Amino acid sequence: MKHAPEEVKQIARHLIETVNEFEHLGQASILYVMEDKAPKRRLASASKVGGRLAGILELIAPGDTPDFIITVYDDVWQDLTEDQKHALIDHELSHCGWDRKKQKWTMVDHDVQDFVGTIKRHGLVFADTKALGEVVQLSLAEAQA
Ligand SMILES: [Zn+2]
Repeated sequence: MKHAPEEVKQIARHLIETVNEFEHLGQASILYVMEDKAPKRRLASASKVGGRLAGILELIAPGDTPDFIITVYDDVWQDLTEDQKHALIDHELSHCGWDRKKQKWTMVDHDVQDFVGTIKRHGLVFADTKALGEVVQLSLAEAQA
């Protein structure tokens, strides 16, 4: 485990500064780390820092505990295009949320949960996949323009 390369932090900083949905993250302390090898079927990950992990980090860097840790994997990162790198960091930042009611940081789950096969067989029947379908349609139209 090592600090992520400056490129990762630059992409994250850019997204936090330019994407409205990430405005709250201007106040968050995010630790970006890089591991050598990705676990199976993982591209990257985001974690909420609390409890035991926060305790461990306190020992490592007293008074400097981050609110979130974003981990990228060297073997995955090296094979990504520039667009994919931005999309991957955007994805992980999307997991880092602020709970207004409880006034604390929280992990945000994926907002689309389905299988390609289910959509193929049954169409876009749920709100999340309908929303995904609309975005995909716009994205395809933009790619053609
Ligand atoms: Zn995710």
